[in-house]
Amino acid sequence: MSAKHILIVEDEDPIREMIAFGLRRAGFEVGEATDSLTARARVADRQPDLMLVDWMLPDLSGLELTRALKRDEATRHVPIIMLTARSEESDKIAGLNGGADDYLTKPFSPRELLARINAVLRRASPSGGEEVLRAGDLALDTAGHRVSVGAETIKLGPTEYRLLHFFMTHPERVFARGQLLDRIWGGNVYVEERTVDVHIRRLRKALAPFGCDSLIQTVRGAGYRFSTRGD
Ligand code: CA
Repeated sequence: MSAKHILIVEDEDPIREMIAFGLRRAGFEVGEATDSLTARARVADRQPDLMLVDWMLPDLSGLELTRALKRDEATRHVPIIMLTARSEESDKIAGLNGGADDYLTKPFSPRELLARINAVLRRASPSGGEEVLRAGDLALDTAGHRVSVGAETIKLGPTEYRLLHFFMTHPERVFARGQLLDRIWGGNVYVEERTVDVHIRRLRKALAPFGCDSLIQTVRGAGYRFSTRGD
């Protein structure tokens, strides 16, 4: 499964760049557009898995852009989260009626944004693109939520399962604890980074009897990596 592609449509450079930075850090592929016309061209080029659309754009408003995309057969299934400085309830309702899948009022924290994105992506594809992920003898069946080595099933807690799933879909890359928190724990800001270590330990312990614990590698001073290659 490749990284999800998110298109940000926002004309204010500092805000767009900040969002883009946070999303790339969280493992997403990011496209950027500064107005509606460019956004339509980008979508035609490559359909994103999700769009973040600012309400105030220099040409068409974000609301009009959303309506146009949702009217178009080719793009109506692309989830859209509207971003806006407006907090009036009537605007929120207009945004959602215009076809937006969710709505976020500025200022928002990167973690809040990630949590919304992950929730909308989950809703958009409840099957989550069912497949069996493999690394050597280790197999993770996303449809059955089952992890196995050969005929043996490995019992994992829900967090360890999500960790392993994330690692197996993002192999051979180092993730800092903060990045793992963003992607596995979403918007829960009260989780400490050492929590990641606790769940990594549990995951390794569950994998150890099958000789698969070495797949989860500690990269000193950087974080963790899932790799089928030795150090
Ligand atoms: Ca704007």
